[in-house]
Amino acid sequence: MDVYFDDRIIEPDYMEEDAETSMTLRPLTLDEFVGQPQLKENLSVSIQAAKNRGESLDHILFYGPPGLGKTTLAQIVAREMGVNIRVTSGPAIEKPGDLAAILTSLSQGDILFIDEIHRLSRQVEEVLYPALEDFSLDIIIGKGPAARSIRIDLKPFTLIGATTRSGMISSPMRDRFGMLLKLDMYSPEDLARIVVRSAGILGLPITDPDGPLEIAKRSRGTPRIANRLLKRVRDYSQVLGDGSINRETVDMTLRKMGIDELGLDSLDRRLLEAVITNYGGGPVGLETIAAMLGEDAGTLEDVCEPYLMQIGFLTRTPRGRCVTPSAYSHLGIRYRNDLSDQQTSLFE
Ligand code: ADP
Repeated sequence: MDVYFDDRIIEPDYMEEDAETSMTLRPLTLDEFVGQPQLKENLSVSIQAAKNRGESLDHILFYGPPGLGKTTLAQIVAREMGVNIRVTSGPAIEKPGDLAAILTSLSQGDILFIDEIHRLSRQVEEVLYPALEDFSLDIIIGKGPAARSIRIDLKPFTLIGATTRSGMISSPMRDRFGMLLKLDMYSPEDLARIVVRSAGILGLPITDPDGPLEIAKRSRGTPRIANRLLKRVRDYSQVLGDGSINRETVDMTLRKMGIDELGLDSLDRRLLEAVITNYGGGPVGLETIAAMLGEDAGTLEDVCEPYLMQIGFLTRTPRGRCVTPSAYSHLGIRYRNDLSDQQTSLFE
């Protein structure tokens, strides 16, 4: 039986239950930050160079799916530079005045972190450009013929932007970043190292190295999900098992949560099966899939699709989404090019 959770445990976006772990499990230095070697090297060189010159760091854009460590990296950069960080997000800055208030409160070298930067309004972006280039703000005071523009000088600061949708960032905005750094999904080995580190911090005994690796394999390449699954295994193991992390307690927990050996949950499977049974495996448009499942298209696009594409179960074509033969075999459905055959094979 599939158990369907309203709050999907494998949802990579931040959830309330992450609050405890985000404070305690976040790595504080680049050395503690697992994986992403190329990105870490780029960052480390830039930090060192800026420090040697006594200058503030170039503006940085981190992009990649949710839960991969963008916020964590921004905080690490601030710590390594020895400066303050002010954290906000695109939708929170509603008016140019909100941005002006933040910018004028920054001290020399401080970092301004704007999460979901692709959601800044055009109006706010316009105010941000001169701030990023010349560290100045042009503010219009008054209305009508009496209106005049005054220029306010800002202290040099560093903007760190984060986005899950790099394609939605306007090109003038993108051009203002000195560094564009992409975060990739993590390998199971790197995720297992993160799980071992987190288990150590939470004081959970690991009695079998296959335990962390199994959590890693089912975490969709995402550290936030790995930490969340680890906490669920902790709960189940403490109540129903021996309190330790091993292959058995991991299997038991994830089975009860309806998460399979590749990390797919019931929504992923429903998505794939709906495309197979109703559209012979595709192509079919995202909106149609969303309507079939009664889900929001944005959720499917941000949460299900990146991983299904990463593991080669789904492809995007100009005519719509297609399910690949390897997804059929994972679901135990015989792959045929003929729609009616697929429908019967589903129920064999
Ligand atoms: P994002 O901002 O990309 O959504 P976060 O920076 O909030 O992601 O990371 C989510 C959680 O995953 C953090 O609380 C942190 O504990 C963990 N995490 C992310 N990346 C790493 C990493 N490379 N090493 C260890 N833990 C990580």
